[in-house]
Amino acid sequence: MHYRAPLADIQFILNDVLHAPAQLLALPCFAEADAELVQQVLEEAGKFVTNEVAPLQEVGDTIGCTFDAGRVTTPPGFKEAYQAFWQAGWPALACAPQDGGQGLPAVLEAVLFEMLSGANHGWTMAPGLLHGAYECIKHHGSEALKAEYLEKVATGEWLATMCLTEPHAGSDLGLVRTKAQPRADGSYRVSGTKIFISGGEHDLTGNIVHLVLARLPDAPAGPKGLSLFLAPKLLPDGMRNAVHCERIEEKMGLHGSPTCVMRFDEATAWMIGEPHRGLGAMFVMMNAARLHVGLQGIGLLEAAWQKADTYSKERRQMRAPKAKMSSAPDLISEHPAMRRILSTQRAWIDGGRVLAYRTAIDSTCSNTTPTPSAATPRNAGAAW
Ligand SMILES: Cc1cc2nc3c(=O)[nH]c(=O)nc-3n(C[C@H](O)[C@H](O)[C@H](O)COP(=O)(O)OP(=O)(O)OC[C@H]3O[C@@H](n4cnc5c(N)ncnc54)[C@H](O)[C@@H]3O)c2cc1C
Repeated sequence: MHYRAPLADIQFILNDVLHAPAQLLALPCFAEADAELVQQVLEEAGKFVTNEVAPLQEVGDTIGCTFDAGRVTTPPGFKEAYQAFWQAGWPALACAPQDGGQGLPAVLEAVLFEMLSGANHGWTMAPGLLHGAYECIKHHGSEALKAEYLEKVATGEWLATMCLTEPHAGSDLGLVRTKAQPRADGSYRVSGTKIFISGGEHDLTGNIVHLVLARLPDAPAGPKGLSLFLAPKLLPDGMRNAVHCERIEEKMGLHGSPTCVMRFDEATAWMIGEPHRGLGAMFVMMNAARLHVGLQGIGLLEAAWQKADTYSKERRQMRAPKAKMSSAPDLISEHPAMRRILSTQRAWIDGGRVLAYRTAIDSTCSNTTPTPSAATPRNAGAAW
């Protein structure tokens, strides 16, 4: 069975537990986002996830991504689903309208990515990094970089990567050795090897925007000597940059996501932000990725619960204790021990949703003035 978008449960948390419409529709930036529009967005998201992305889960993991001489091919159907995804505007849901986005509340993006992760974790790894890359370029990129890359990343026309990890530098990014040599024209030559790079190479989009942590020649040792660079797969003149995929890493149960070893061979790059302050800029992307990993957890819990719940309502074993004992075996969902397990799963899912959606709502409210309490709630009684 495929994952089904659990819209009614999600709407219960948004409307009845968190009162999201009353809080968010009061903000001037969402003046256009009335309850009906948001409801429509949620319904369409649910349909896309259930009908387009969930059916690709099995082929994603059984066939997986394949590697041939530096090229990565994603599983059958992945590319078509991704093209439909970005062309329908889903990656740009919560990006600013001036950057090509739809300007809707971030909590809707959280709902979308929770459902996508539950439906097909491997496929969802590709767009999962986009919003963080968008925020990082928006807040730290030069005007020239923004003009070239911001809208393509906001809309998802081009996918992005986060190139931090090296063979000897995992949690301890202060050990990063990748080097960046300045050129006279203001660009840099980046050289080094990065491992575990999600979406490092693939056929989903025409270009890939790599955000890379590297060290300038005069950099101090440790994390305070890291700078951040943007190195695209294809340069603005259409030429191939010196960024090479060496292989796909093996990961259990996530074969639909190409996690790559990437070699930068004096690749052309441009600095994002200031010299030696790259880690701070990168944290904009890393923090978005961390929140995304939280949503993956909730999506996967829901996917597991859907399977367990369905099975428990089909499988009959032994007699369940009740006032009138059955003569035939009962469904295992009627056994108290099973009911406890299934209810515990549901509690984890609902608790996770409250935490994740609350975080998205609060971060929107704290980044927007006036605060909801100072504004007159519009559509206060409306439900999504
Ligand atoms: C699915 C997947 C996708 C990934 N995608 C990307 C990506 O897109 N880009 C990228 O750059 N990287 C990516 N990574 C790499 C990921 O960021 C690293 O795995 C992570 O930083 C940890 O590094 P490590 O695996 O080398 O573990 P290590 O740093 O070697 O740690 C090993 C263990 O020691 C523990 N440990 C380390 N230091 C401490 C400490 N100070 N105190 C207590 N415990 C400690 C860790 O928690 C861990 O359990 C990905 C990894 C996975 C699994």
